[in-house]
Amino acid sequence: MSDQVNHFIGGVPVAEGATFATHDPVTGRPVREVREADRDVVGRAVAAARAALPGWAALPVAERATWMRRLAGAIEERFEDLVAAEIADTGKSITQTRTLDIPRGAANFRSFAEIAAQHPEDAFHLTDVLSYTVRKPLGVVAVIVPWNLPFLLATWKLGPALVAGNTVVVKPSEHTPGSVAVLAEIAASIGLPAGVLNVVNGFGGGSTGQFLVEHPGVDAVTFTGESRTGSTIMKAVADRVKPVSFELGGKNAGLVFADADLDAAVEGSVRSVFTNGGQVCLCTERLYVQRPVFEEFTARLAGRAGDLRFGRPSDEDATMMPMISAEHRDKVLSYYELAKHEGAEIRAGGGVPRFGDDRDGGYYVEPTVLTGLPHDSRVNREEIFGPVCHIAPFDTEAEAVGLANDSEYGLAATVWTSDLSRAHRVARSLEAGLVWVNTWYLRDLRTPFGGVKLSGIGREGGTRSLDFYSEPTTITIKLEPGHD
Ligand code: NAD
Repeated sequence: MSDQVNHFIGGVPVAEGATFATHDPVTGRPVREVREADRDVVGRAVAAARAALPGWAALPVAERATWMRRLAGAIEERFEDLVAAEIADTGKSITQTRTLDIPRGAANFRSFAEIAAQHPEDAFHLTDVLSYTVRKPLGVVAVIVPWNLPFLLATWKLGPALVAGNTVVVKPSEHTPGSVAVLAEIAASIGLPAGVLNVVNGFGGGSTGQFLVEHPGVDAVTFTGESRTGSTIMKAVADRVKPVSFELGGKNAGLVFADADLDAAVEGSVRSVFTNGGQVCLCTERLYVQRPVFEEFTARLAGRAGDLRFGRPSDEDATMMPMISAEHRDKVLSYYELAKHEGAEIRAGGGVPRFGDDRDGGYYVEPTVLTGLPHDSRVNREEIFGPVCHIAPFDTEAEAVGLANDSEYGLAATVWTSDLSRAHRVARSLEAGLVWVNTWYLRDLRTPFGGVKLSGIGREGGTRSLDFYSEPTTITIKLEPGHD
């Protein structure tokens, strides 16, 4: 991976447009020079995708599935390059990048190859009528992804979009273009037909992202990012009624009941609050703990927050990573200040760590545990997207469910209890697209993924992804009785 990131259009790199710099979150130093695609470059990427569409869509699904498996294999061959690119952009730990982010990229292509190859069409046979469906790709799909899990989230959308017969134009986050740039090199190296996968780099509003979603040659938009951006994109595509799939923000609740295995609840919450520096849409930012165990749970979680290790990415034992950018660090710190202003008790963290080395130029914040805020405080209502949670006590199950559901968001929730009936009862009462019981983040790629309320529109995952990335035509045939 060179330090210069270009676009990838029609199977070749395109070095056009003004450049901007990305920064290493560990030190704040510039890492790459990235080209910004203007309307013209975006238009050429869409044209390349459109030109490739008939040939790609006409391939039997089994052949497209074979291409997906080839991509997965080539990802494994370029594994260390992808790890290095992801770390340079995000400052993630090498352990997480090697065990989660990059392997999930290969798994995304492989699993959607299997799911698509085995996905049956509908067929209904009445006495003298046969109705069946054939699925067709949507066309050219814009894939717009954020910075927190750059490779995992891009491939999560690319796998099903491509195997369903669409061609794509991907716009990675302006902060994290590196791993998708390696993917483009991989696509070229295995001879993926030119124009099937195109990449344009740049910013969002007033830049590449906006030019892409507005382009009349784009047939659908799949987007992961902030709820506010989803709303802006929805308005931008409304006139053309383009299909959208939105995976948006969250303000996820975790409920800890007094009957829970407290060790598991504490350790599970350490993961659900602080993984990836809290920069995962599924991270817990609101914890509600039943009063008899509230003090013990809070003290233990605060203690564990203080134990987390700010290593460099190469440190295999590092458990805290920096925020993605100076701007995002400042946003997270502004919520730490707001929490103090709103009357919070800071049980852990609340500031910026000092290292006495070049990491002082990076974007680190302390893992932070808060208590004592009113339920309707801004800190309890707005997505912070950092290593921070607020913990509040509750008395009854109904109260806990009410507190968890009183949010504009509805992406994920976590329940810690040893009572089986309570687990089922509470899980089905929660207004969230995903509920975990006594665990967090575990996922089977065949299950539906997505959020309710401000957290998204639609579901991806398994056959739900194929449902979004293709459209059925229903064919009904009247069968005449035989005459002989
Ligand atoms: P963001 O919305 O700022 O940006 C996401 C992407 O959209 C970037 O590539 C950006 O350049 C682009 N963009 C921004 N404005 C645009 C516009 N007007 N038109 C077209 N493209 C535009 O989000 P972010 O800060 O990169 O990511 C963090 C957010 O993502 C958080 O809210 C988090 O919860 C959410 N997220 C959700 C999920 C999920 O599955 N629900 C997963 C990961 C992250």
